[in-house]
Amino acid sequence: MNNNTDRPRDTVDVPDRIEFPRLFDFYELQSEDHTRIHEFYDRLRDGSLSTTTCENCDALHFPPRVVCPECTSDDLTYTSLPHEGTLFAFSVVRGSAPIGMAEDVPFVVGIIDLEGADVRLSARIDEVGYDDLSIGDRMRLKVVDIDDSRDEDRVFYRFEPAHRTPE
Ligand SMILES: [Zn+2]
Repeated sequence: MNNNTDRPRDTVDVPDRIEFPRLFDFYELQSEDHTRIHEFYDRLRDGSLSTTTCENCDALHFPPRVVCPECTSDDLTYTSLPHEGTLFAFSVVRGSAPIGMAEDVPFVVGIIDLEGADVRLSARIDEVGYDDLSIGDRMRLKVVDIDDSRDEDRVFYRFEPAHRTPE
């Protein structure tokens, strides 16, 4: 029988603090230094939802791209998107929320067809519970500030029912 009790033990260190894993940071680095789609975030910070269109083949992309997935052109320009749409589908997250969202459960996520644009996107739905929603409900953009330890002014988009009055 192998007995370890008389042998000297090694000591290992564990960090006092584990940084938020980069892999699980949904908001990523939004500045020009870090992403070629920084204009999307710059516009969102100013309250505008936008995306890229291809100057070569006119394709509209969402999310924004740096190369057109249709024709591989990198001649892309930014265009504003509608801020309202209709709810195509929705669900509620009650458990197993992603890192950083555990305290938010339950929360609603939905798929929204933007009005007047060929864009269907997914987003968190704020200000309303699952039981209060129906497919076809009108939704509108809501820009949120990301409050975290990074010294950056980060934002992201969510949606909320369009009938609510602005705060
Ligand atoms: Zn193209």
